[in-house]
Amino acid sequence: MCDSVCMPTRTASSSAKPSTAKSRTASSRTTSPSTTGTSPIPMRALLAGARRLQPDLLALARTLVLAESPSDDKAAVDRCGALVAAHARSLGGRVRLHRQRAHGHLLEIRFGDPRATSRTLILGHLDTVWPLGTLPAMPCRIDAERFRGPGSLDMKTGVAMAFTALRMLQEAALLTRSCGHQVILLLVSDEEIGSPVSRALTESLARESSAVLVLEPAQGLALKTARKGTGNFRIHVTGRAAHSGVDFASGRSAIRELARLVERVSDWTDPSRGITVNVGIIHGGSRSNIIADHAWAEVDLRIARRADGPRLERRFLSLRPTPLGRDCAVTVTGGINRPPMERTRGTVQLFRLAQRLAAQLDWPLDEAATGGASDGNFTSALGIATLDGLGPVGHGAHAPTESVLLDSIAPRTALLAGLLAARIG
Ligand SMILES: [Zn+2]
Repeated sequence: MCDSVCMPTRTASSSAKPSTAKSRTASSRTTSPSTTGTSPIPMRALLAGARRLQPDLLALARTLVLAESPSDDKAAVDRCGALVAAHARSLGGRVRLHRQRAHGHLLEIRFGDPRATSRTLILGHLDTVWPLGTLPAMPCRIDAERFRGPGSLDMKTGVAMAFTALRMLQEAALLTRSCGHQVILLLVSDEEIGSPVSRALTESLARESSAVLVLEPAQGLALKTARKGTGNFRIHVTGRAAHSGVDFASGRSAIRELARLVERVSDWTDPSRGITVNVGIIHGGSRSNIIADHAWAEVDLRIARRADGPRLERRFLSLRPTPLGRDCAVTVTGGINRPPMERTRGTVQLFRLAQRLAAQLDWPLDEAATGGASDGNFTSALGIATLDGLGPVGHGAHAPTESVLLDSIAPRTALLAGLLAARIG
């Protein structure tokens, strides 16, 4: 209904018409990632609009949380995706389904001017880390301060915020079929497992765009302008089995050699360069009276600088037995999965724009770096300005306490809308 969403427009005195929006765009659009335009973005009006729409936003977020969608359950992710696609169509979004066999379908949704070459990509994911049947133990509910449930923070509320921001811009006649700008909302199904099937699409849509906004939750209260890159490796050691009492000397313990290698790779941690190596899983042997003929470990590598990726990857893949374990065989598989999101100039420009918009709401917005990775890592590594952490504030992502702070939703939805309005020009 119009009365629930009557957004003031960029022109202060009257409602904007598409033709007005178009002429404004023609005069002020630029390819800079941080287009600011000449007229101020009405952040207070956007905030008022977001507050009015918050009940609808929460209803959508609740619908999405109730549609549980673990990454490894294609049918479940597709059920959630179907709800999202229907909602997108109801807002006039042009939905394209990228069908997948083993994972959930990917949703590419376009809003705005279909012929515009000036584009902004909004990145989100529909999958969660929570298995089907989590809801009874972790119910979806809203209390005085928080919205709770599996995937509430990471990132179903963020997805609902994006739709709400787009709706506000449409209703203010800023985002129209002739506005000279196109917003692409990409919602993937596999982010929580490293984006094996969506990465190529994310990268190709990012290449079409001059800025990427990522709906991952905030870091504390801050936006994310840098993220570490990630690598995963599996170290497998083969030794020689023998009876530990009868024939000890002829055995070659794979466990002992793996222990040496664990020490070796763990020493590659270098906090001064933002490098961490964590051996997170270790397995080996079969019985305590058998010298272990096999052992393996899984390792998580984090890097802050892109240049460290190939060097460390080579180091892992060329691991050899230590002198004391030279009779064992060592094989290593894996590699760098996500390159780091470095704090590039384009990203800083986008952040400064966000900061100026937030300042209109007397909101001192900070930036932060995080060790966690997102799909923003892929787009940033392509050299495209990427601003992350635009979702809600909350805590307990991937934990039973997962929840969103209700107070954070409207200001951050207004910020998202403001950023898009500035991009539209
Ligand atoms: Zn996430």
